[in-house]
Amino acid sequence: MPNNFASIVTLSSRSSVSLARASLFKFAGLLAGVFLLASVSLIYLAHDLDRTEEVESAFYTKKAMQSLEKSLRSTVKDYAFWGDAYKHLHTEVDLDWAFVRQNVGPTIYKDFGFQGLFVVSDVNRTVYSVVKGELKSVEVSEWLKQSIAGIIDKARAGAETETPTTAFINVNGVPALIAAAAITPGTDPSVVADDRSPSVLVFVDVLNSAKLKLIGNDFGVKHLHAATADEAGATSLLPLGIDGAAGTLHWSSSKPGLRLLKLGLPLIGVALLLVCLMTWAILRRTTAGALVLDSSYASLQRSQEALATGEARFRDVVETSSDWVWEIDADWRLTFLSERFEDVTGLSRDAWIGAMIDDLLCTELGTLSQWLSIPNRRPDLSVQCRYVDTQGRERITRLSAREMTGEGFRGTATDVTEEVEARRRIEFLSQHDALTGLPNRRRLHEFLDSKLKALQTAEQPLIMLSLDLDRFKPVNDLLGHAAGDLVLNEVSSRLAECVRDGDLVARIGGDEFVLILTDMSIQEQVEALCRRLIESIERPITIDEQDVFVSTSIGIAIAPTDAFEATELLRYADIALYEAKAGGRNTWRYYAGDMNAKIIERRRLESDLRFAIKHGELRLYFQPRYRIADGQMVGAEALVRWQHPERGLIPPDTFIPIAEEAGLILSLSDWVISTACRCAAQWPESLFVSVNLSPIEFKRGNLVERIQKTLHDSGVDPARVELEITESVMLDGAAGALEVMRALKRIGVRISMDDFGTGYSSLSYLREFPFDGLKIDRSFLNRMGGNEEDTAIIKAIVGLGRALSLIVTAEGVETADHLELLKEVSCDEGQGYFLSRPLDIDSFNALAGIVVDVKEDGFR
Ligand code: C2E
Ligand code: CA
Ligand code: CA
Repeated sequence: MPNNFASIVTLSSRSSVSLARASLFKFAGLLAGVFLLASVSLIYLAHDLDRTEEVESAFYTKKAMQSLEKSLRSTVKDYAFWGDAYKHLHTEVDLDWAFVRQNVGPTIYKDFGFQGLFVVSDVNRTVYSVVKGELKSVEVSEWLKQSIAGIIDKARAGAETETPTTAFINVNGVPALIAAAAITPGTDPSVVADDRSPSVLVFVDVLNSAKLKLIGNDFGVKHLHAATADEAGATSLLPLGIDGAAGTLHWSSSKPGLRLLKLGLPLIGVALLLVCLMTWAILRRTTAGALVLDSSYASLQRSQEALATGEARFRDVVETSSDWVWEIDADWRLTFLSERFEDVTGLSRDAWIGAMIDDLLCTELGTLSQWLSIPNRRPDLSVQCRYVDTQGRERITRLSAREMTGEGFRGTATDVTEEVEARRRIEFLSQHDALTGLPNRRRLHEFLDSKLKALQTAEQPLIMLSLDLDRFKPVNDLLGHAAGDLVLNEVSSRLAECVRDGDLVARIGGDEFVLILTDMSIQEQVEALCRRLIESIERPITIDEQDVFVSTSIGIAIAPTDAFEATELLRYADIALYEAKAGGRNTWRYYAGDMNAKIIERRRLESDLRFAIKHGELRLYFQPRYRIADGQMVGAEALVRWQHPERGLIPPDTFIPIAEEAGLILSLSDWVISTACRCAAQWPESLFVSVNLSPIEFKRGNLVERIQKTLHDSGVDPARVELEITESVMLDGAAGALEVMRALKRIGVRISMDDFGTGYSSLSYLREFPFDGLKIDRSFLNRMGGNEEDTAIIKAIVGLGRALSLIVTAEGVETADHLELLKEVSCDEGQGYFLSRPLDIDSFNALAGIVVDVKEDGFR
């Protein structure tokens, strides 16, 4: 008997050794499988990464080309659908207008880089060609070495709808983008179309390697270039034109997958080695342990059984590779929850085992048991479920399930809350502005499109307000972008506060906003809102204990009265905004049909002015300034005029604002300053010249160097030059202005404050900034009734000037009474029609140095 027992023990010990070994080998096999799987997944992932990268770079290259096409299309459209172009390029070809005056000429190459510009007449002859900015007489087909009759026809077909056409072609082996549009009178009511078929304007943008590289860089595509023959079969290719007839683009896409493989595979190798070593060590230990283990055959069997079920579960876990595992019986009650359940959900396993699975999880569409009961449900499909965790937060989990051989289901659950949230966030971001969180242009368009589609009657109109901030740029320039961002955020929330729930506030550009109001039909309501918006934006915004002031102008367009279509509505609101700004800012304007014509007119004036500055149409007049005490002329103010060939002499009030807005003020002012200095250099030493500066010159352009250079070139003594500036210079950017003014003083010029008394804070500026003189605005003398009070005001200003050691000049001396009064209060100097009107240089030279009796007819 004892012998028997001993033999059983030995037998069971031996079998437990081999059993341990066997399961260890199985485990090792399984691990090897896992490593293999990991390697394969890594390779797959790397491949996938490379492919994604490839697809992405292809996407951006395509985007780059589309955006190029779009911009070329809008440029050609701008020039072709234009009454002036119709008159000067179609009705007859006016080289002077087009080329010499640069309306459609060399600037096309200089500003846009388009190598070719052609006009093809109604009988398909090329009647105007500019190649690389130079006037040529060459047929477009000859220059392109191919016929573009198809493109020309298509452009003519688009005349009615003002649709330009574009195409990629190949010119001498280089891809090029060609854009063509029929020339039409546009919206210019003064031009009438003739019955010839329209001429066509053609722009050619040759995509040479430098240009492609630049475009690629803009879109984050590296080394974008036209593919050579060797690269024909490679990846990263984008054919241009029909079947790649225009050439093929090639770029280099980085291979993130390859890099990943280089890093990942060796790591897996090392891990595999470590695991082998560990298995070997464990094997040795288990063998020893198993030998010591004394267990009965029956217990062995039990553990074998347990191992078998464990293995089954384990297999399922591996198969579905998930976070936690669950099992339910035929009554939908949970019979098993893996340990990870508690880690992931924070819920207690004990509490949930035995509970209905529907109480734990629910799907978007119904209960989980309904989903599980779907006949022939594909086992590889998963379902998204929601549950509430211990902290009461809703979590989202992806559930997969298999029917068990007995009854019930078994499956896995993966927490995907973060993933779902990330997806939602991305969707939000793509429709909202990152800085302010307001809807962006894309969302605006979607919103508009849906609202416009639903819009049936004019009774419940849709109102669009286009806003743009005034005085925002100086905030950005002087206080930095962080401050600018704060201002934008504050403005955004103020705007949002002013509107109702169903309305939309979108930010569509730097300081541009659009509001859509859906529930407003009465004009008074709209205007009340505009007033509220303006008041709200005007309230000071405090940044770093400093008060910043911005304001806004508003343009209003209404659907369906003004337009049905989103882009058109936006354009009209913009035009109205432009009008609001021209109307003095801080106000609102409704879109009106004739605004278009006004803008065309202004654009014309702008292009005329550009020409005028270059081609000597500006004139400088001089208005003398006299010392009041003895009637001696002390200097003169230079005042610019424009001798327009058709409109005659245009006063500066009309064109200076245009020059400021069109970015022409610096070249205009350069001309004024240098002409004034050159003239003054001829005058007697006792006479100074004063010039007016635009506030913009303080912000842009190195004013100090410009003045220094002009002074040097003309040889005039800096002490004989005075600069007149208005208080808006200081209002717009106090800190920077002070620096510039100090630097100007170091050069030796004098500075006076112009139009004193028209602003509201001149007084403090006079004390803080290094002024030499102040000019009392002409409105003061003009409204003089001759009574005591008026005299007192002028007297006070003169006294103030004296206290600050400033030379005080009165402007607008129009009568003998004015002069008498100025004498009475001991004002230093005077200027005005009574003394002398502004004179052209010849008349001024004739007058210079002459002293006339005060009493009879002024000094002149
Ligand atoms: P401002 O600097 O106040 O120039 C004085 C203006 O008052 C001149 O008008 C002058 O002709 C006018 N004026 C002179 N005496 C009298 C008078 O007795 N009565 C009345 N009612 N007016 C008188 P102008 O030449 O039309 O210039 C208008 C404004 O255009 C100037 O105002 C100045 O702000 C601007 N401006 C003129 N030339 C230039 C320039 O070269 N550069 C810049 N940036 N602005 C200029
Ligand atoms: Ca002035
Ligand atoms: Ca003035």
